[in-house]
Amino acid sequence: MDVDVAVLGGGPGGYTAAIRAAQLGASVACIEKETELGGTCLRVGCIPTKAWVQTAHFLHQAKDSYGKLGVVVGEPQLDFGAANEWKDGVVKQMTSGVASLFKANGVEWVKGSGAFRDANTIAVEGGEDVTFKSAIIATGSFPLRPPIDGLDSPRCVDSTGLLAQNDVPRRLVVLGGGIIGAEFASIFNRFGSEVTIVEMLDRLIPQEDEDAAKELAKQFGRRNITLHLGKQCTKVDDSGSELTVHFGEGETVQADLMLVSVGRGPTVEGIGLDQIGVEFDRRKGIAADEHRRTTVPHVYAVGDCAGYWQLAHTAFREGEVAAENACGHDAVVDNRAVPRPIYTDPEIAGVGLTEAEAREQYGDDVAVGQFPWVANARAVMQNETVGWVKSIHETRYGELLGLVMVGPHVTDLIEAGVVALDAESTVETVADGMAAHPTLSEAVKEAGLVALGRAIHLPNRKRAPARA
Ligand SMILES: Cc1cc2nc3c(=O)[nH]c(=O)nc-3n(C[C@H](O)[C@H](O)[C@H](O)COP(=O)(O)OP(=O)(O)OC[C@H]3O[C@@H](n4cnc5c(N)ncnc54)[C@H](O)[C@@H]3O)c2cc1C
Repeated sequence: MDVDVAVLGGGPGGYTAAIRAAQLGASVACIEKETELGGTCLRVGCIPTKAWVQTAHFLHQAKDSYGKLGVVVGEPQLDFGAANEWKDGVVKQMTSGVASLFKANGVEWVKGSGAFRDANTIAVEGGEDVTFKSAIIATGSFPLRPPIDGLDSPRCVDSTGLLAQNDVPRRLVVLGGGIIGAEFASIFNRFGSEVTIVEMLDRLIPQEDEDAAKELAKQFGRRNITLHLGKQCTKVDDSGSELTVHFGEGETVQADLMLVSVGRGPTVEGIGLDQIGVEFDRRKGIAADEHRRTTVPHVYAVGDCAGYWQLAHTAFREGEVAAENACGHDAVVDNRAVPRPIYTDPEIAGVGLTEAEAREQYGDDVAVGQFPWVANARAVMQNETVGWVKSIHETRYGELLGLVMVGPHVTDLIEAGVVALDAESTVETVADGMAAHPTLSEAVKEAGLVALGRAIHLPNRKRAPARA
């Protein structure tokens, strides 16, 4: 098969690139080895985990809020079989949606595992070779496994293994307190497991704003999720009926299942990169510039195999940009306003700089305002008052530098910050704009007002400036 653009991998980066290139008039083949399109995100990542997050959220609401709000439904219980059916149904709907989009856009799905044979050919195992003018590599990532004695036990699973469970483990140990580990800890705690997190660093979600990480640790503590921070796992013993996880200075914890979530590595081996001279690093992935161009000019790379972020939405955008460039346009990826959603309970979301990063870059010329959900009417009526919204700006021109949020629906609300940062808005744009009342979005405006010292729905710590 001969095409204008060949895409290797059908996940968020690859399928977006394929669709966009086809929209621009290119003939496109997308090579995907799994039986469904959608990659990690749709099959074993974002989509199934968030289906479980929804089950966990409803369970919690039914237990802790329905009665208070006057809705009587009896004692809620988890039907894990039904939750899994729901999760699998959502995955099926989303993955078959991508297949329909391929058909609608005329993208050819070549089923099989591909590897570059030369700079204009991808050989497909068990399928037809694809020759191309440009190629976009989107092979994604795989879960890392640290060299810890005993971690090869079948009771030590990665995120894909945990998503395939048919029973809720009575005791779950989560190795790694990053985003994926924290999300699963939150879900399984709501599902009734005794959850313990063992994390080498002295905090959870290390890339996020420190206050957000502290808030999460506080809320996890209240929910009886046991945290062992700053402790390294040294060994795992499987007795045949349970695990003993060794960590720190001779400490142990018993478990029925262990999630190993210590990070993901880029899929760069076995795809013929050496063959065509594309530069890559086994840890950092494929080197690509802001046009997503690799060291071989007609070959592009997007998503987890070539990026810092390892997020579906960065892969989406990179896929669009690579496709446009492969079709003769001049597009670049702008990473200033990448939203950072974390679907724990409470949810966390950030965009732009964290407070520490802002202080590091702007010194004393930084102002921060934090608005708690307890002062927001909609959050109060929803019985969801944990957390806050934090607005961060620099004080010379008032440019908004970042927003960090912990609390209800913040993974949706963060989009306001994405648009504001993309538009290089000042804090006044956010603080002086109107937010519909009563909504959660008012907290974003109010955080800006707090930062300016003129909050209305919260006592001000500092005097409001004379300017109106
Ligand atoms: C548990 C979990 C939860 C997550 N939750 C979120 C979330 O909520 N939000 C978010 O933004 N991100 C989330 N992510 C991250 C997100 O899934 C990834 O960032 C995203 O899938 C990356 O897209 P990609 O296209 O680069 O790679 P992938 O989605 O990994 O797709 C790569 C595709 O390439 C195929 N492939 C690889 N090699 C070959 C080959 N040689 N031949 C043919 N096909 C090949 C693979 O089969 C795969 O389908 C989560 C990840 C995990 C593991």
